[in-house]
Order: sequence, then C-alpha cells, then structure tokens
Amino acid sequence: MEDQVRDGVRGAPERSLLLQRSGERIAVIAAHPDDETIGAGGHLPRMEDVLVLTVTDGAPADEADWKAANCSHRDEYAALRRAELVSSMALAGISAERLECFHVQDQQASANIEAIALRLARWLREHEVGLVLTHPFEMGHPDHDAVALAVHAAVALNGRNGGAPPRLVEFTSYHRGPSGELIAGLFAPGGDPGEVRDLDGTTRTLKRRMLATYRSQARVLAPFRTDVERFRPAPTYDFTAPPHGSGAYYDMFNWGMRSEHWFLIAGEALKTLGLGPC
Ligand SMILES: [Zn+2]
Repeated sequence: MEDQVRDGVRGAPERSLLLQRSGERIAVIAAHPDDETIGAGGHLPRMEDVLVLTVTDGAPADEADWKAANCSHRDEYAALRRAELVSSMALAGISAERLECFHVQDQQASANIEAIALRLARWLREHEVGLVLTHPFEMGHPDHDAVALAVHAAVALNGRNGGAPPRLVEFTSYHRGPSGELIAGLFAPGGDPGEVRDLDGTTRTLKRRMLATYRSQARVLAPFRTDVERFRPAPTYDFTAPPHGSGAYYDMFNWGMRSEHWFLIAGEALKTLGLGPC
C-alpha cells in the first residue's frame, strides 16, 4: 500500500527547474526533525538521490518538553524524535542510512553557528551535493535562522575555495504575522513569495501520514497545511538585521534567545568566518 502511494507521487511530472535535476544529489538541511516534512514532505517521495540532514537532535534542555512526551531523560527524547523522523522518511521511501544528524542540542544552533558552518562545508563537499533545500531566514525560530546562516556560509566558504557551489532553494517554515500570530506555509512578506506547488490528493494523504508520525509534536504541527508547498531560490541575506518588519516570532516566547542578541551572534559568526552578506 505504501509503495503504491509513493509510486503515485513519484510519477508526478516536475513543473519547475527549482527542484531536482537529473542525476543531481539533493540535501534537505533542516534544524529539527519534522521541519523537512513541514517544508518539503510532499516532494521528498519523488526525489531520487536525497540526503536529509537534521542539525539538532530536536531535544532541548528544558525537561518540560521531554516530560510531556513521557521521556525521563533528554537523550530518551532525542531518540524518540529520531525514531519519528525515521518513520516519516520511511513513508517517503527514504531509508535511515540517508538520514544524518549533527546532534546539536535543540535551541543551541545559534550558539554553534561557526562550527556548524564549517562542518556543513565539509559535508557538502564530501557528499557532492548539487542542490540544497533549507530554511528561509525569517525570525520564526532561532535554530531555523542559525541553520539558514550556516548553510549560506558553508556554500560561500566552498565557493571561495574554488568548489562548485550547490544551488540553494528554500522551503517554507513559519514566521510572525502582523498580530503576532504564527504564519505557516508562506514566505515572509517583502520577498519573493516563491513558486506554489499544489499537492494532489494522494500526496496530501501521504504528507498527513508523514506529519502524523511525529506524535510528540502533534500539537505543534496542527497549523501546518498539506495542500500546497512553496519553494524559491534562496536570496542573499544580511543576517545581521531583520529580514522583514513583522518582528521575531520567537521574541514572544522563552526559547532562550532574543532577536537583538541573535543579530549580534550572527555578525560575530560571519566575521569569524570572514564573510559578509551571503
Ligand atoms: Zn523547526
């Protein structure tokens, strides 16, 4: 049954050159287990040579998160989130060997931007990645922005060293709306709205099943849609200033980071890496 669903999606025609080209290895680079499914879950089943790299293990230091999932240790919660990722990706036909994690603690990516960027630069070269799908810089979650910055920096570093840089394409995550609400499935206002790709009924069903494997995130995932996905070429960013005027979604919560501080950290990381806007 799963193979039939997957094959039905795999046979869908590509309408855009934004996504995978023939023979190209694609890397989906996301901050947390579930971001790959939120942003590109409807397209993952039709990708032929795909690696999924999750930068954090999805387990924050705050025990409230893991106790809510009936876990007694942070490591146990990280293992649960890994198992959910494996299940979701199995539905998309992506085996566990194609899933890589950098094991950064959830909510700590911003504190490790240089290390993540350098490790990513090496990883992209070693795996000869031709296309990267990743987060936009939109002040939704500090880990998302840290991963976006690390990816842009890694590509810039590889380009500076004479390597052929992969193409960078963004999937949607979430950002803050005008009234402080969470906006999912759209890119933040003021930039390229991206190419809208409708998901057919079979694909919507599959994506709903993929999202449902993330049982520990069921409440968080409720607002995310399964009817369309949007993609766009990644723009060049100034990571030291707000990318839009709606404010940071994460400034409304105690996620251990304020946006004013994030811009300072980003500036320091870029300086250390010898990079400017990228
Ligand atoms: Zn996330």
